[in-house]
Amino acid sequence: MTSPFHIKILTLFPEMFPGMAGISLSGKALEKGIWSFETIQLRDYTKDIHKTVDDTPFGGGAGMVIKPDILDKALCDHQPLGRFIYMSPRGKPLTQSLAHKLVKEPLLTILCGRYEGVDQRLLDSYEVEEISVGDYVLSGGEPAAMILLDSCIRLLPDVLGNAETHTEESFENGLLEYPHYTRPAEWIDSAGITRKVPEVLVSGHHAKVAAWRQSESEAITKVKRPDLWEKYIRSKA
Ligand code: SAH
Repeated sequence: MTSPFHIKILTLFPEMFPGMAGISLSGKALEKGIWSFETIQLRDYTKDIHKTVDDTPFGGGAGMVIKPDILDKALCDHQPLGRFIYMSPRGKPLTQSLAHKLVKEPLLTILCGRYEGVDQRLLDSYEVEEISVGDYVLSGGEPAAMILLDSCIRLLPDVLGNAETHTEESFENGLLEYPHYTRPAEWIDSAGITRKVPEVLVSGHHAKVAAWRQSESEAITKVKRPDLWEKYIRSKA
């Protein structure tokens, strides 16, 4: 293992990695060896001249399916797998609490699907954990894997600098975050309206600031995410 958080990525498009994960804070963390990754090109496990990884679905229908035998060879060749994940719209939703759990794993293996997806028998055989990044369909698992990685990497120690950054963020306490303001304290927008920073934020009164932020968080969550609000209320009851 090359770092405390290593990721093996099975993909038909290894050139997509590290992509955005190689930029800014996660890019610096990659250079420092706080996390590391390797890509596994599925086509390397084909035997035919065309390097075919997919075939038509049994039962008919549109699209192609990635073959189980090819995937199995790639997986056998890259043991151990650690926690093995298939990015999939039918998976459990990626949440902040799941990201916290994943980032504690020393090794993740992420399978990125393409076309219609992968043969079900491969998923059954490995008892793969399926994770979704939302109720919409992407053309491949790579952008989904990238989102999962980004949500994990920023939680690693020494990536964001200030550990406190996390504790107040959206979802960390079951609420969405309160609004932020910075200088200038008074700003005139393009319609000529003077927009001031909420008074309490410049009062220097820490307890009042904290109370204001909490009530803003609650109000915003109530309006924007009634589902989260319900959960929050239930957890407090
Ligand atoms: N036929 C599938 C969609 C295939 S999309 C279906 O209807 O469920 C091709 C690949 O993109 C999938 O194999 C998966 O790896 C990835 N993918 C698409 N949408 C995704 C999402 N919301 N979350 C995670 N991965 C997704």
